[in-house]
Amino acid sequence: MDIVDKNNTESDLSVLVQSDKLQLLYRQSFPAIFVSLFNAALLAAILWPAQDHQLLLIWFSLFLVSSTLRLFLFNRYYKAAPQAQEVLSWEKPYFITLMLSSLIWGLGCVLIMPTDSPLHQAVIFYFLIGMSGGAISVYSAHRAMTLATIAAVLLPVTIYFLFSGEFIFAAMAIGAISFFISTIRATSVLGFAMHNNFLMTHQLEISKVKADKLARIDELTGLYNRRAFYEYGKVLANNSQRNKDELAMIIMDLDNFKTINDSFGHAAGDAALKQIGQILLKRLRKSDVFARIGGEEFGMLLPLTPLSVAAQLAEELRQAIENEVVSYEDQSFSITASFGVTSGICDIDAIVRQADLAMYKSKASGRNTVICD
Ligand code: GH3
Ligand code: MG
Ligand code: MG
Repeated sequence: MDIVDKNNTESDLSVLVQSDKLQLLYRQSFPAIFVSLFNAALLAAILWPAQDHQLLLIWFSLFLVSSTLRLFLFNRYYKAAPQAQEVLSWEKPYFITLMLSSLIWGLGCVLIMPTDSPLHQAVIFYFLIGMSGGAISVYSAHRAMTLATIAAVLLPVTIYFLFSGEFIFAAMAIGAISFFISTIRATSVLGFAMHNNFLMTHQLEISKVKADKLARIDELTGLYNRRAFYEYGKVLANNSQRNKDELAMIIMDLDNFKTINDSFGHAAGDAALKQIGQILLKRLRKSDVFARIGGEEFGMLLPLTPLSVAAQLAEELRQAIENEVVSYEDQSFSITASFGVTSGICDIDAIVRQADLAMYKSKASGRNTVICD
């Protein structure tokens, strides 16, 4: 039985959020490779009458190589199906291949620019603006990636236009710069919203796991409570019935606990319950299910355990409790418990009933004993 909770730190959360962003990026941008390839082919066809064919073919071939690299990367990513922080190691290759494609667009378009045809130059610009706009929607999960892509695609031709000496091209370049500046702001707002969305999803998941755990824990002793005992106990009893394995049960009820409370106070009684909880935690196995199932009553289910072994454990617990000195403030006292032990292949209610009967026999026989039934 593993009761200890694992706390998620802030850095765990930021790794999860970063992984979410990358996962979205991979999911989102796969079709973009084909769109980009199609646009490159279309642009090369438009420029065909106005530019050197060999140059256009080299440009398009480079683009084919970088697209193939990206497809190869995506294929490996989907096959590896990385989870949580493993995803982070896929960021660098993504960034490198994306930059390669973006620079082939951005710098490549400066090289394939037909200097004597303003119409074709404007068409190239139109394509680059379109590609940059598309980058916002495709890569927006990752702000740095979006800005780097737009800068690589748009800035080379923008700078070329800015210093072209033609008023109309310089004006178009200024338009592109203002577009780029507005993108910096837009991606910040969008990125922040996405970041918060991912963060909240993880925080909710963690809170739910914590709430589920807390609903099954007894606050005083830190052991499972009655609800968890029956929930997990049912699973053990079902397994035992299915596999015809013996399941043992011990019920332990503290003796004259009312008198302890009356003599030393309720808080001292609480301290005793806590100490006894620690004895159980020390002596039971991880595979056992044990809990405080009533005020001063504890239930233990031991899978794959014969009656004799369960009786031996109950006797060890009886002695450990008898020898335990409970100290609370300036008073100290000792305590005893009565045990009922049983085993069998039956459902949870039947085994609890049987162990309870044995425990009552133990009470009837003078307390501080182990009775098997
Ligand atoms: P017996 O030996 O027959 O079991 O006698 P008992 O006094 O232990 O049994 P009884 O059922 O009459 O009383 C159980 C007492 O346990 C009553 C209640 O005040 C006390 N108790 C139940 N839950 C708690 C708790 O969480 N803290 C404390 N301090 N006492 C509790
Ligand atoms: Mg009692
Ligand atoms: Mg009781």
